[in-house]
Amino acid sequence: MTEKIDLYSMLPEELEKYFISIGEPKFRAKQVFSRLATGDGVSDITSLSKSLRERLLAETVDTLPTVEEKLVSKIDGTVKYLFRLHDGSCIESVFMKYKHGNTLCISSQVGCYMGCKFCASTIGGKVRDLYPSELLGQIIAAQKDSGERISNIVMMGIGEPLDNFDNVIKFLRLVNHPDGLNIGYRHISLSTCGVVPGIYKLAEVDIPITLSISLHASNDEKRTEIMPVNKKWKIAELLSACVDYYKVTGRRISFEYTLISGKNDTESDARELASLLKNAFKGSGAPIHVNLIRVNEVKETGFKKGTAESANNFAKVLEKQGVVATVRRRLGADVNAACGQLRRSAMKSQSEQS
Ligand code: SAH
Repeated sequence: MTEKIDLYSMLPEELEKYFISIGEPKFRAKQVFSRLATGDGVSDITSLSKSLRERLLAETVDTLPTVEEKLVSKIDGTVKYLFRLHDGSCIESVFMKYKHGNTLCISSQVGCYMGCKFCASTIGGKVRDLYPSELLGQIIAAQKDSGERISNIVMMGIGEPLDNFDNVIKFLRLVNHPDGLNIGYRHISLSTCGVVPGIYKLAEVDIPITLSISLHASNDEKRTEIMPVNKKWKIAELLSACVDYYKVTGRRISFEYTLISGKNDTESDARELASLLKNAFKGSGAPIHVNLIRVNEVKETGFKKGTAESANNFAKVLEKQGVVATVRRRLGADVNAACGQLRRSAMKSQSEQS
């Protein structure tokens, strides 16, 4: 970021060290950490002396992402945020209201390196990783803007979270901290395109979040065609890592499957998918859940969405084979389509202006 101390990236124990180093009592750490989590900046914390506030303002950064654009769905109240970061980069977060609580879908990187053929977020490549403060900042900024508490997080926005592993882990510890936002790990899910070493590492850090795997195909040939990551880690390696994750954490894994008309959405694809998953998890006791979503059409990719009927049919075939499947309800259908498109249109209009 800068030479300055990035306050929102620091856990209370790290803040303690900092305060001690500048001759302040240790309890300042909790005081500042809790107030920052409400969206207040250093200058709002008037319980600190004026000279301490001035020192903090000079030595540290306490900025949150700012709302660059906000689209509110007339259908279901979903809010799509385009946030601007300190360096001018933009990312997206989506606020959704579910019966089980308010959920924020957050981005993990500016752009994405993974190259999935159907995805808008990856078209311009990866610009950079997000800092822990920027991951956390999306939640704090969305809570501040909406005035509502966010109780669930899904890491399914722009970027590949396991390609930004250390910052994501730090963020998870920050967001879970009882003196901060205090969001339970069980209310957090992380979606990956299949960065296999990251799945093994995640199993070892004792952060029992829910893992979602973007599978999208039932054999290597088809998966490699739409997801370049599959050249590096094949489906068998990916599913072995999933079994390991389940054995170590006891957390269930869900599989995302984007239905693309004529590519991966036939009955035989569904049968192949069911036997692939059943075989991989045989004897492990892991429940298998497949989330089906009809592809959001992105102009640049040319992939087409099938009918709702064919999606339901795909789900029925899976269920008949003993695999639980849900056709995902699309929230915020009117606040623009696929993830990454709002950022792309902002980037385009910026480059047209310059
Ligand atoms: N990189 C992570 C998280 C971000 S993508 C991952 O790949 O899981 C979040 C989800 O949206 C993934 O399942 C991804 O495959 C899916 N997705 C991306 N573009 C899509 C599109 N145009 N239509 C439907 N789903 C899409």
